[in-house]
Parts: sequence; structure tokens; C-alpha cells
Amino acid sequence: MNHLGENGSIVILGAGITGLTAAWELSRSFPGRVILLEKESKVGGLADTAFTKEQFAFDTGSHRLHEDNHPKVNQLIRDLCGPDLLKRERKGQIYIQDKPFRYPPSALDIMTAFGLKDFARFGFGFLFSRIRQMFQKTEPGNFEDYITSKVGKGLYTRFYRPYAMKLYGMSPRSIAKDPAINRVRKFKPAAMIQDVRDKISGKKTRTYLYPAKGIGQLSTALKEKFLNNGGQLVFISQLESICLKNDNVIDSITYRTQNGSRQDVAVGTFISTISLDILHDLIKFESEKAKRPEFTLRWRALRLLHLVTSDKVQSEHETYYFPESHIPFGRVSEIGKYSPALISDPDRTLLTIEIPCSPGDQTWDMGDDQLAEVCTSGLQKLGILRNPMQGTTTSFSRKLDKIYPVYDLGWKERFDRVYDRLNQVQNLYMIGRGALFLHCNIDHCMLMAIKLNEYLSQGHADKTEWEGIRKEFFNYRVRE
Ligand SMILES: Cc1cc2nc3c(=O)[nH]c(=O)nc-3n(C[C@H](O)[C@H](O)[C@H](O)COP(=O)(O)OP(=O)(O)OC[C@H]3O[C@@H](n4cnc5c(N)ncnc54)[C@H](O)[C@@H]3O)c2cc1C
Repeated sequence: MNHLGENGSIVILGAGITGLTAAWELSRSFPGRVILLEKESKVGGLADTAFTKEQFAFDTGSHRLHEDNHPKVNQLIRDLCGPDLLKRERKGQIYIQDKPFRYPPSALDIMTAFGLKDFARFGFGFLFSRIRQMFQKTEPGNFEDYITSKVGKGLYTRFYRPYAMKLYGMSPRSIAKDPAINRVRKFKPAAMIQDVRDKISGKKTRTYLYPAKGIGQLSTALKEKFLNNGGQLVFISQLESICLKNDNVIDSITYRTQNGSRQDVAVGTFISTISLDILHDLIKFESEKAKRPEFTLRWRALRLLHLVTSDKVQSEHETYYFPESHIPFGRVSEIGKYSPALISDPDRTLLTIEIPCSPGDQTWDMGDDQLAEVCTSGLQKLGILRNPMQGTTTSFSRKLDKIYPVYDLGWKERFDRVYDRLNQVQNLYMIGRGALFLHCNIDHCMLMAIKLNEYLSQGHADKTEWEGIRKEFFNYRVRE
């Protein structure tokens, strides 16, 4: 049965970039029928330029748009930003052994970063791993074994192990190989030859796109287009219940508005872009007499420290990456170098410092002042900030839970169990980062929404073919 054919409302949960893109696209295909529900008092989710404090606008961490997106996504981004879409030269640095290298580093950069003795050891380990691979009958199953099989034990232990420990907060032996695959592509012979060519021919310029008013400009423009097209945006305090008909169709939902009143909405089609666990708890099947299956997927959290200083950062770089575990943060970005329009006071610098962590651990619980002290002294030791710093410095932090899906061993089977359970509901579609447990980029999110609109507007009668499209979303490669 095609629920859209019944003229029911299309209810979208979550006004991040996925929900907003879906809302805008669907409002054109089904005018007057789209309702977007959001639990914060603003739209954008992670793709948001949230704060205007101390005369600066703050993105939720370092965000940039890549240029190799699907043409439909690139067109939409251009339509949303118009002349405000800036093309910037990428000037990133990665610190290995406290020494800066160009980001992204080449295979050769990584191998030489630890000195001559280790370079020889890594080279030997690399060759040995390649020979051993030829005789290996089974694909390695975890992060550690996969990387070791591609680059050798030495390089794994010195470079990749600390990185994985820092990002995921757990032993790489317990992490699936999925996130490892992307990390070692640069060690493929073709990529290594290309790197050497780039080195010989001089510096290769990399560029990225960025909206002049911050990454949140995309979300704001989508919101305005959606509202101008007759879309309905409701800021809710909580989605209270989801009512099923015949145990397999969402009939209606009940939510509380932000002023406390309770509302019921009849649902034709329901699109969820929020994290999977919330829906897992809200959808209760009559037929599930026994207790609901346990939800066992895990996310890693992020602490963001925004540091505003009247001391200038001398370097020309806009982003710095720190894979090693002796440095407490993972990435630092200077937003004024992404877009000068975000800084109304040119004499001050804003740094956004990203620290992967988990609720309850030391970094998560640390007070803002202590966190600022730890980060400042780390940046001073690396020479990114001066010691002592000049003028005044202020800072504040934010805690973001459920940011990175943790692909630990067996995650896919556990994800499939949760997804398949919810997917029994015929008029429910799940897209976006949290709903599909995907470590993905903004353009991926936009494309999922574009594809869902194409699917629904073509009048498909059921979800069978959608599943084929949805599975392709897992082939996307995240770019940093
Ligand atoms: C630090 C950082 C840096 C990044 N850098 C880049 C980058 O450089 N380039 C890039 O392309 N991508 C980047 N990304 C990824 C990108 O930001 C995300 O993949 C994307 O924004 C996710 O969008 P989404 O709409 O799927 O999810 P979200 O942004 O998480 O949106 C979900 C929305 O649902 C709302 N919600 C949650 N629960 C409920 C509920 N119960 N009821 C109603 N609403 C609810 C939330 O408030 C939110 O608005 C980065 C991500 C992070 C964290």
C-alpha cells in the first residue's frame, strides 16, 4: 500500500541537514503535506553555526564541504549559498611525533615521521606484510589485524594504534575492520606512486568549499526554502509515543510542544533522521510479547572547547590534526581562516578544539577552566600558541553525545537486527547519520534525502526497492 497516495502527512523527525534536505525536497513533491519536528529550538543539528558569542560565529567543530560530491548535491549546495559559497585552499597540518606535516599526509610522510631507524623498520615490516598477504587465505577481521596486514606491525603500533585508541577509546582488536579500510588506502601502490609524483612536481593544491556565513548557512537556507514552500516546522520538547495500526504501519504520533501542550498528528509517511536507539525504544510491537530486544550499539562522544584569544596564531594553517595519544585533543581549527566574515574583530583568534571522549570519563567530566588549561598548554608545547600568550583569552565548552558510531566487532549484525526490526513498519523510512549509524559527511546526508524524495515521488508502492538504495549508503567513504 502506498501511504503517500492516501494524502496523509509526511512527518520528518529531526531538523539536521538530513531532515532539512528531506523536508525541502519533499515539500516540492508533496506541497502542503510535510511536517518537520525538531527537539532543539534551532535547526541544523551538527551542521550548525550555533553561537554568536564574543563577536564570533561558532561551527559545531571543523566543517568543510568537499568538491567531489554527487552533482545533485553540488547543485543544491550552490543554490543554497549562491555567491556566498567560498572556494578555499586547504591548509591543514598533521602533527606526528610533535612535528608538523601537510594534511592529509602521504604514506611516505607517515613512514619518515619517526626517524631513520624506524623508517627502515617500517619499510621492512611493510614489505613483509605485503608478502605475507599473498599467502593469507582469510581477510583479517579486526582493525588491528587489517592494518597490520596492509602496513606491517611497526607502523601499526606507532601510528595507527594510538589513533584508534584515541578516536574510539577502546582496543583496536575490538574494533571491526570497516573504519580501517579507508585509513590505509594511501599505502596502495598506485596511491604511493601518485604521492611521489606530487612531491617531485611540487606542492599539490587542495581546495574545499565553505559557506561565507558558516556551515549553518546551508541549514538556514534549507529551512527558509521549506517554510516559504508551505512547510510546517514544529519545535517539540519530546516525541511521546508512536501509535501503530495492525502492528506494521505508523498511524499517528503524539508529541509535546515546547510550551508543554500535547499534540497528535495523523501520519501518512514517517521519516526518522534521529539516532536509532530513540526509535527503538518508542516503537512497540503488539506481537513482541516478550521484552524488546536489547539495544547494544555504541557511540563515541565529543567535547568541544571554543577558545577566543587576542593573541594571534602565527601559522597560515586553518586546521591541525593530532592522531597521537599523548596529545589530549584530536583536531583544532581556526574558523576565521575558513571565512573571514565569521570574525568581526580581526585582532582576535577563535580556535575550536575537538576532544573525542565518552560520557563519564575524565575529559567528559573536566571543568571548562581545567580543560582550557590542558588544551592551551598542549598547543603551546607544539608552538601553535605562544607561551606566554599575549592579551586576554576566554573559553567555553560543549558536550556532544552520540557523535561517532563505534564500529566494534559484530556491530553490523547488531545494527541489522535493530534496523530490520524497525523496518517492518511499512511507512517508516530511516536516513541520516544517527538513524543509519553512519560515520558520514554532510553531502552523504543530503544525498540520502534527495534519493528518498526521488523514490517517494516516483510513487513506489512499497519499500522493497528502497532497501537496495539504502544499502548503497554504506558504501560512501567519509572524508575529513
Ligand atoms: C566535529 C564534526 C565535524 C564534522 N566535519 C564535517 C565536515 O568537515 N564535512 C562534512 O561534510 N561533514 C562533517 N561532519 C559530519 C556532519 O556534520 C554530519 O554527518 C551531519 O551534519 C549529520 O546530519 P544529520 O541530519 O543526519 O544528523 P544530526 O545533525 O545529528 O541531526 C539530527 C537532528 O535531530 C534532532 N533530534 C534528535 N533527537 C530528536 C527527537 N527525539 N525529536 C526531534 N528531533 C530530534 C537533533 O536535535 C538534530 O537537529 C562533521 C561532524 C562532526 C561531529
